[in-house]
Amino acid sequence: MLSDVDPEIAALIQAESARQSSKLRMIASENDVSAAVLEATGSVLTNKYSEGYPGKRYYEGQQVIDQVEQLAVDRARALFGVDHANVQPLSGAPANLAVYLAFLSPGDTVMGMSLPMGGHLTHGWSVSATGRWFHAVQYDVRKDTGVVDLDEVRSLALAERPKVIFCGGTAIPRTIDFPGFASIAAEVGAVLVADIAHIAGLVAGGAHPSPVGHAPVITTTTHKTLRGPRGAMILTDAEHAKAVDRAVFPGLQGGPHNHTTAAIAVALHEAAQPEFREYAHTVVANAKALAVALLERGFDLVSGGTDNHLVLIDLTSKAIGGKPAARALDQAGIELNYNAVPFDPRKPFDPSGIRLGTPAITTRGLRPDQMPLVAEWIDRAIAAAGNAPALDRIAAEVSDLLTSL
Ligand SMILES: *Cc1c(COP(=O)(O)O)cnc(C)c1O
Repeated sequence: MLSDVDPEIAALIQAESARQSSKLRMIASENDVSAAVLEATGSVLTNKYSEGYPGKRYYEGQQVIDQVEQLAVDRARALFGVDHANVQPLSGAPANLAVYLAFLSPGDTVMGMSLPMGGHLTHGWSVSATGRWFHAVQYDVRKDTGVVDLDEVRSLALAERPKVIFCGGTAIPRTIDFPGFASIAAEVGAVLVADIAHIAGLVAGGAHPSPVGHAPVITTTTHKTLRGPRGAMILTDAEHAKAVDRAVFPGLQGGPHNHTTAAIAVALHEAAQPEFREYAHTVVANAKALAVALLERGFDLVSGGTDNHLVLIDLTSKAIGGKPAARALDQAGIELNYNAVPFDPRKPFDPSGIRLGTPAITTRGLRPDQMPLVAEWIDRAIAAAGNAPALDRIAAEVSDLLTSL
């Protein structure tokens, strides 16, 4: 037993479990995995080395591991409707790095959404290896709409001729226009990569349009809306499969994390059930209901609302920064992150916004009719920043609701 061998870590895991269950977990990239996913993650598969791919390994004893990985691959192909799936990337950032290795050489031009506008570090942001080793050009959102303008993306692509274009990001509250990006990529001869890390579960559940058929290469984490273990996948058409496989192994990684692969297979099985479709649609319904309730309370939302699982609040009009607001909310039992908003006049470490997501609270069982209450708590907590007794009272109400579910 862990508690006998290492009581310190056992107690900390217990404490984290209690912390998670007593709070509204609204970090948009997080979720709450099933007991089945946890069990697979904590299995003896972690003991096995298996460099290579099913049927082509460099170590013996792959009789079982080959079947595990093949199941994960087959389930990913079936769920998303793609020709090929690589389930070995260790996480989302390494998956994206594998894409660079597959289709670019250092110094080549890559195009992605800039980080402060909602893109990801690995889409060419300056501090990332992807921005340092490649010529990265970045597109923004429009100031008046808070949404990407594909005419601007097209002009930039025609001027810069990127070899790879990334679409998708970490703080995009609106539907991504995959066909629109695909026609720009076709016009300039770029490989379109759809990074659906945040929305993979919504895509799988039919609550966001699929990039399949538009983006020949799709990267995703497995632990966000998809509700699996921490990991990633690269989904491709037949043409781009070999280059991606070679880039992941031997290009970038050694042995795959087989316990994670098994847990990804479990999560993909769960995501193929009818209940998961309902889950994905409820995630979106919750986010939309939350957005409406926040707007009614005078909050300013980037792009005016949401189409997916996340809401980005610009707190400028509330005269509080994102960081003190996030801290107050955490004390009030609502866990989220401070976030830059487009054209943020404040510094990245002390930005103007907060980002909220509904994936974990939907898993927990919250429904759209409870979102006005959540918005009320958020409003009260922000107004009560610095007032510990008031924040504690909200935390008690949050905990009461969660215990009643
Ligand atoms: C989360 C995320 C990643 C990175 O995933 P990690 O598992 O944290 O490395 C990459 N791209 C996007 C769009 C993401 O949201």
